[in-house]
Amino acid sequence: FLHISGLRKRYGALEILKGIDIELEKGGFLVLVGPSGCGKSTLLNTIAGLETITEGDIKVDERSIAGLHPSKRDIAMVFQSYALYPNMTVAGNIAFGMEMRGVPADERKQAIDKVAKVLQIGHLLDRKPSQLSGGQRQRVAMGRALVRDPKLFLFDEPLSNLDAKLRVDMRTEIKRLHQTTGKTIVYVTHDQIEAMTLATKIAVMKEGIVQQFGTPAEIYNNPANMFVADFMGSPA
Ligand code: ATP
Ligand code: MG
Repeated sequence: FLHISGLRKRYGALEILKGIDIELEKGGFLVLVGPSGCGKSTLLNTIAGLETITEGDIKVDERSIAGLHPSKRDIAMVFQSYALYPNMTVAGNIAFGMEMRGVPADERKQAIDKVAKVLQIGHLLDRKPSQLSGGQRQRVAMGRALVRDPKLFLFDEPLSNLDAKLRVDMRTEIKRLHQTTGKTIVYVTHDQIEAMTLATKIAVMKEGIVQQFGTPAEIYNNPANMFVADFMGSPA
């Protein structure tokens, strides 16, 4: 469903992604892990179209998306910083894209109510982002992605700003979201537990190269090298 082949990304002489090959099935949940600076965000950004690619191809549903404008890719991304519009209400934030596309008000309201129910933020719709907790803001950011009903979701460390308790709650929430919607997701995290509990597939990256790609059990029980074993905390 998501097919990345021979993907390279260079900034001048600096090569950040050095030939990435990934194949993710429809409805799969791919978690990208690896040390800071290894190219996880860059990889997400190339899929979303926020960065151009130097070489290789990205296909979604058998169709190359590499040349498409981000708005034409049918992909929604949730960033680490929630990037909500501070002057708009929660409802306004969620509906902003639809409003831009000229979706009528009653249809917008229906769509907002639907995602608000899934994310349990119905009671917050009239508030401004400044009146929300971190976890609530994160839900709104997800609501904004969800309401678009994209083919593919990209999450870049969405829980890293939350405290431990909220992280666990939101992790459960995201898992439920994946199970109920069956959407295909690519998710970046620094948290091994998050990776192990959410993923159907994990890609362990180092310096722009995928060191190992496999199921959580394969990676944990059968690490391809010392780096992967160390990084995933596999038993020696
Ligand atoms: P983190 O876990 O810290 O978020 P990451 O794996 O997401 O790290 P990236 O943000 O993808 O890492 O960055 C990968 C490398 O690319 C880094 O060395 C970074 O300095 C470099 N880089 C990112 N953007 C640019 C740019 N516009 N020009 C040059 N180098 C860049
Ligand atoms: Mg990053």
